[in-house]
Amino acid sequence: MPHELRPGLVQLVGAGPGAADLLTVRALRAIESAEALLYDALISEEVLALAPAHCLKIQTGKRAGRTSMKQETINRLMLRIARRGLRVVRLKGGDPSVFGRVGEEAAFLNAHGVATEVVPGITAACAAAAQFNFPLTHRKQARRVVFTTARLEAGALQADWSAADDPETTLAIYMGGGAAAELSARLIAAGRAASTPALAVESAGSPKARLRRGTVGELARLVEDGEGGPVLLVIGEVAAMADAREIGDQLDAARSLRA
Ligand code: SAH
Repeated sequence: MPHELRPGLVQLVGAGPGAADLLTVRALRAIESAEALLYDALISEEVLALAPAHCLKIQTGKRAGRTSMKQETINRLMLRIARRGLRVVRLKGGDPSVFGRVGEEAAFLNAHGVATEVVPGITAACAAAAQFNFPLTHRKQARRVVFTTARLEAGALQADWSAADDPETTLAIYMGGGAAAELSARLIAAGRAASTPALAVESAGSPKARLRRGTVGELARLVEDGEGGPVLLVIGEVAAMADAREIGDQLDAARSLRA
């Protein structure tokens, strides 16, 4: 097949939580050699700036209630560009396989004869844990971690409660910020103690990240006065270990211990 007719590969790339130095080397290479970049609302300017100047850049998602492109439109656009033979990078916040619709996009492209490759990224829960010094699992306290989501749909909470009442499960709840009050009530009704430690982490992985600590009973308060960034809720004993100190402060504390 002549080169210009060969369908391009589409790489479904995880951009991590925003900071460019949290990209994988593979993701960086993909972005640097992209000829067309379709990116979601959560992608930072710092990461976008790594794409070549001649690269076609298309924003597919917008935050804060503004209309995003329909999934079907995104799929068809990727297909059309890939069929022109361009190297397409579909850039998604965090990891593409965590609430990133990667399965749908890959299935669509593959069904139309376009090959796909997934490049993993650091998901919000891992970024939050690293930045605020708590583990997602912890011996004897948190034997499993569940990545789950909770959203209000027509006023009703859509969520999965199967691990909600297990005191040894860490729940990392994506897209749950707008449903915090309902989540709090439902977690307690499902059997989780209201006193269980809980966190709301906004814009994890970026310098403007914000940590709010409290309990399951206080989830609504934890998401108050947010700054409009994405919010991850973390429920479980590990949340009690979260610590917002900067590395500089920790170094000072360690020095004073040694003195
Ligand atoms: N694929 C992404 C998740 C996409 S769903 C990932 O792996 O991280 C979007 C939700 O993810 C947001 O509503 C929020 O709950 C969470 N999220 C994404 N980026 C975040 C960040 N930097 N800080 C906190 N939460 C984030």
